Amino acid sequence: MICRDEAIVLMTRDFRETSKIAVFYSKKFGKISGLFKGIRKDPRKFASNLEFLSINEIIFYKKRFSELHLVSQCDFKKGFSYLESDIVKFGLANFCVELVYSIMPQEDAHPEIYDLLVNFLDSLENTNLLQKLVYNFILKTLTLSGFQPHLESCISCKKSIENQAFFSNRFGGLLCSKCSCRDEQCESVLAGTIATILFLQNSNWPDSLRLDILPSIDKQLGKLLFSFLNFHLEKKFKSAKVLNELLDRNVNIC
Ligand SMILES: [Zn+2]
Repeated sequence: MICRDEAIVLMTRDFRETSKIAVFYSKKFGKISGLFKGIRKDPRKFASNLEFLSINEIIFYKKRFSELHLVSQCDFKKGFSYLESDIVKFGLANFCVELVYSIMPQEDAHPEIYDLLVNFLDSLENTNLLQKLVYNFILKTLTLSGFQPHLESCISCKKSIENQAFFSNRFGGLLCSKCSCRDEQCESVLAGTIATILFLQNSNWPDSLRLDILPSIDKQLGKLLFSFLNFHLEKKFKSAKVLNELLDRNVNIC
């Protein structure tokens, strides 16, 4: 089947003597891998140099029994050149790509994740509110992929939480004070942090960027999100440590 789609380059690697494999996040097909035959021998064979995170229009032959598809045409549409000169923003973009790469199964279409990546890369160019942008991206990715924490009630007894709430990575959401003894590693969480997460999960991209986040909530939100990701994705993100350092260095600009 011949397919055409727009797609963001997540990763490339050399393949055999003259070819390359690129992993894209595409709008209609989700995460896909494409083979670029002969691109290293003749870089002008395709109208794109497969720059990291560039948006391309691709035409590929979709095989039925393989996850590696032959790309016949690839036209560069848009790049994010600011990433080349801004190491902090490059680090944040790298983290978000790693998150999408790890969390999304191969060829599972989610056009909203594609739009989220494009919105994130567009917004990253013109903002210094880096924490908010990254937390927003993480929460929306978790929600769209079905990995979001349960915050609407106590995940154990299902009752609504009237008083102090506790966040449990093991249970994947909130526990009430009565049920908090079920996970000795759960931590108390501010009502403002819960409200912020729910707002970021449920609002559209422009609205979520307009929210002001208090420093105390910002700090707790970052800690909660990274421990949740590490616990549930069963891997330490390579870029998460770098990301924390980058965000810390920019802590006064949020
Ligand atoms: Zn409970």
